[in-house]
Formats: sequence, structure tokens, C-alpha cells
Amino acid sequence: MHLGTPDHPLRVAIIGSGPSGFYAADHLLRQTDLTVEIDMYDRLPTPYGLVRGGVAPDHQKIKSVTKVYEKIASHPGFRFFGHVTFGQDVTRDDLALHYHALIYAVGAQTDRRMDIPGEDLPGSHAATEFVGWYNAHPDYRDLRFDLSQESAAVVGLGNVAMDVVRILAHSPEELATTDIADHALEALRHSRVRRIYVLGRRGPAQAAFTNPEIKELGELAEANVIVAPEELELDPLSQAYLDSGEDKSAIKNVEILREYARRGATGKPRQIILRFLVSPVEILGRDRVEAVKVVHNELVMDERGGLRPRPTDRTEIIPIGLIFRSVGYYGLALPGVPFNPKTGTIPNDKGRVLTEPKGQPSLGDYVVGWIKRGPSGIIGTNKPDSIETVEMLLEDLRAGRLLSPPQPSRAAVEALLRARGVEVVTFPDWQILDAIETQRGAAQGRPRVKFSRVDEMLAAIRAHKAESQPDPAGD
Ligand code: NAP
Repeated sequence: MHLGTPDHPLRVAIIGSGPSGFYAADHLLRQTDLTVEIDMYDRLPTPYGLVRGGVAPDHQKIKSVTKVYEKIASHPGFRFFGHVTFGQDVTRDDLALHYHALIYAVGAQTDRRMDIPGEDLPGSHAATEFVGWYNAHPDYRDLRFDLSQESAAVVGLGNVAMDVVRILAHSPEELATTDIADHALEALRHSRVRRIYVLGRRGPAQAAFTNPEIKELGELAEANVIVAPEELELDPLSQAYLDSGEDKSAIKNVEILREYARRGATGKPRQIILRFLVSPVEILGRDRVEAVKVVHNELVMDERGGLRPRPTDRTEIIPIGLIFRSVGYYGLALPGVPFNPKTGTIPNDKGRVLTEPKGQPSLGDYVVGWIKRGPSGIIGTNKPDSIETVEMLLEDLRAGRLLSPPQPSRAAVEALLRARGVEVVTFPDWQILDAIETQRGAAQGRPRVKFSRVDEMLAAIRAHKAESQPDPAGD
């Protein structure tokens, strides 16, 4: 019996519906010599992971990548099982009864901490929480951010930090043309934040943001970018790094920053103050955040030739009322699946899950995206990453090294979920929500007005289905 034929389709469950999951599905469905059935699970009723819940609302163009994912979802071999939580509604053992392979595509679902005193004071938040909140992610719907503060700080020089800074710096009119969550739009309308410090622990030549993102800060309608020229003076090691010419992005970043230093303030109402070579060492305040204490750093070469920050004896206190740490995402363990807490990833070899780092392959388990390689790269980075994993899966298929599920059928999985009382959201169900959101948006000149609560999403789907049922009385 050959697996991957119309009589015996290769059955794959993908856990997570962000970019890495969709690129894995795409590569499987492109195998013209194979019949493949894919069920993609997500704990939310909505697909697309960070494209919906992470990408900033003022970056609409990036979100158009969902058109590609819609096309993948329209393949007859693809089904979406939204509102199904892995490890709760279905376990790894349950899925092993129905699929030949499982691909984990759950991303990095929490944030890294700075581990400094005062980090848990009211007014100190993870950037990832703010991002989830302004993007209408149901998990963050009821968070509150005290935007009555005049000064805020964002720690980290990555693109997430840039997103957070822009959202704090935009005018309400600019935000009102986006798909930002309604609750966030309303709160930001009353924001009194006027000064936003961005705190980088290394220098301008080591910043993690990319050229378009730092350039965009200089184009904001309502905010000046302030950089002190002396903070852009490079130490000999950074200068030598730039002079080597190998990092074009860093060279351009420094060029853009020098232009900001020359330009100075231009009379806009908000100030974005970029600071380099400073690390927060304590968040100060009695009952809430009142200031951040930073230590000034110098750069030294580490064993691997990289430049790392080393604290000097110089400290500084910056008065602020709100602080967002944007120092990276971090993966969470899935029940019944190997996990390496040191890296926040699932141990793997080119996407084949290993029982432990450098351990044996775990039969039938594969991993893609941020939970495979850590939280780095842009959306497109996930395509080659997912292809690599699927190639390993296909190699194992040819070698007969996949699971042998006793009930390999589409109907059996549906029956299991029904028996568990799970209200599954299918792809056509999601399209109902999508249509409602975009219609509500069109009425306000916005791309969409998002649902932000799971119960409201489920109620809207039920209501739509009830309306479109033929009336039994024939009225
Ligand atoms: P990131 O690019 O890894 O940046 C993390 C930043 O935090 C770095 O500046 C890092 O400094 C700093 N940091 C780490 N630990 C720190 C500590 N203890 N104290 C002070 N600073 C610390 O991560 P990210 O911004 O979360 O973004 C994740 C990925 O998503 C990135 O690949 C990013 O490009 C991508 N993304 C892309 C876009 C876009 O394309 N527009 C938007 C958002 C996110 P060091 O360099 O010194 O470690």
C-alpha cells in the first residue's frame, strides 16, 4: 500500500496558522505526485498568526500576503480547524490516531524579560502585549495602558520596537485609517504621550531595525526624531565593522541616523529620542513606574568576534511613566512535545523534531518557523524554512518513517472534535468573519474593523448561518 495515493492520502496536521504553517502546507500541496490531506489547527477562530496579530496596523501592504494564504486554503486537500486548542481540545496522542505527520508552527508566543528590579511595576509592559492589544488579539483585549503619561520608553532596537514607537507617535487621524483595534484607537485618541525614549544597549552600527523601519520614523507627521550627534560617534571596533563593507544594512542605518542628528527638531508635537549604549538596570517608582535607571555601556569583542555591551560605572535616571520592553519574543512548550527552555524552541534537525537537543528524531513530528529557529526574520524568511522541513518529511515518507495512524480519515477527526464538544471554525466560517470585518471597515474608510473577542466571533458566525438557513416555515 502506497501512502500519498488517492486511496491512501498522506495526512498531515499543522498546528498553527501563521506564515510558517501556510508555507509548509503550500509545499506539501505542490507535490504533484502525492495526494495530501492537510488539517490546519489554530486555537483562535481567525487564521494568519502574526500577520493578523503582530504586523502593525499602519503596515497594511505587508498584510496583503494573506491573499497567498487564501489561495492555499482554497485547495481541496486543505481544511482549517480554528478555535481548537492543541493540548486541551486535542492532544498529540489524539492526533497520532489520525495523521501520518504533525507539523508544529506555533511561533514564539510570549516575550523575553529583562530580569531587572521594578520590571513588574504597573506601567511596565512587554511590547508584545501592547502589540497584541492594538491588533485586537483576544488574549490582550482587556489590558490597560496608562497613556496619560507624558514620557514613555521602549527598550530594544528591533523592528517590534519601531512598530511600538510609531503607534505611540502617530496622530489619531493617521491611526483612524488603519485596522487598529477600536479599543486601542479610542485609548490612543486620548494619549498624552509626547516623549518616547528608545533605549539601545549597543551602538547605532549594531541596531537590529532594518532600513525602511528607521527611515519611516523620520517621515512621521507628528513626531521629530532626536539623536544626539555624540551618540553617533563610533568606537573603533564599530567603525572597523562598517568599513569592512559587509553589512550594507548597518551602513545605511548609520547614514539615516546621522541625517536625523543633522536635522534636529522640526517643531512637531511629539519627540522620539533615540539613545544608544544604555541598558536599563532598574525601573524606579513607588506604586508605579516613575523613571528608568540606565547604565552606560561600552562595546567589547566577545569570543566569537561579535561586539557585546559592557557596563561602565556611569548611570543616568530618565523620568518616564510608561515602559515597554521590546527585547524579543520567546517560545512556549507544547504539551507532549519536546522543548528546549534555553532557546525557547523545539529541538530539531532541519525541522525533524528531536527528543532532546542532539537527541533522536521523534517519529512523525516536525517543526517550522519561530518555534523551530527562534524569533528572527521577516515573513518571507519562513518560506525556505518551511520548505526545508517539508523536504525532511517527504524524505521520511519515502523511507517509510512516518506514523501509522489507526484511523486515517477526515471523518474520524471531525467525529472526535464533535464528541469533545468543540465548536470548530472552518475556513468558510472565517470567511464570514472576514467579510463582516471588511464591510464594517468600508463603512468607515478603513481596511477592516476587527472582532477582538472570541465569543463575539462565534456569535457572529452562528448568526450569519442562522440568517442564511432556508426558513422552514417557507416565509
Ligand atoms: P530583534 O530584531 O531580535 O530585536 C531585539 C532587540 O532587543 C535588539 O535590539 C536587542 O539588542 C535588544 N535586546 C535584547 N535583549 C536585551 C536586553 N536584555 N536589554 C536591552 N536590549 C536587549 O527582535 P524583535 O524586534 O522582537 O523582532 C523579531 C523579528 O521580527 C525580527 O526578525 C524583526 O525584524 C521581525 N519584524 C519585522 C518587522 C518588519 O519587517 N517591519 C516588524 C516587526 C518584527 P542586541 O542587538 O544588543 O541583542
